[in-house]
Amino acid sequence: MISRKCVGCGEIKNREDMIKITKEHSTNSLVINGNPKVFGRSAYLCYNNTCIENAFKKNKLQKILKTPVSADVKGLLINELRNNQN
Ligand SMILES: [Zn+2]
Repeated sequence: MISRKCVGCGEIKNREDMIKITKEHSTNSLVINGNPKVFGRSAYLCYNNTCIENAFKKNKLQKILKTPVSADVKGLLINELRNNQN
């Protein structure tokens, strides 16, 4: 099992149970739950609203990814969360 730390709550969980956000190395664009061929700096979040909200407080996600993270990304993460709950 590969474990990763959630940016929102700091808990360590199975990577498979988390949302992955990657800053794609060659384009610097953010990819959510990209395929394994997407390389770059990554951050992980639990599938819940609180962790998504927390990751945007104090620009936590931005600091970890070392790139500006727009509010649009929060919308995309919330969509990903909804899709996963179906
Ligand atoms: Zn979390």
